[in-house]
Amino acid sequence: MNLDDYAVIYKAAIEKWGREAQFDQLVEECAELIAAVHHLRREKVTEQAVAEELADVLLMAGQMIYMLGEDTVQKAVDTKIAKLKILLGQANT
Ligand SMILES: [Mg+2]
Repeated sequence: MNLDDYAVIYKAAIEKWGREAQFDQLVEECAELIAAVHHLRREKVTEQAVAEELADVLLMAGQMIYMLGEDTVQKAVDTKIAKLKILLGQANT
């Protein structure tokens, strides 16, 4: 998945509904994903249901990246990956 592939649709969604509404939508989609994962653990939904909620969250995350700036988010991801490598004992890889 590449931001460039979806930038046009992200921009259109943000222009149609506005930044604040999209932040609210991100919160709602995250809550739905949390519920779906919880229900999967109870065998009340399928993995497909979780995948669909994850897709919703990824689309909202893409809009967040578009709004916050790809470089800003990439730097944060790089920092988190470096910390994860340390935790996994793979800091030199
Ligand atoms: Mg959803």
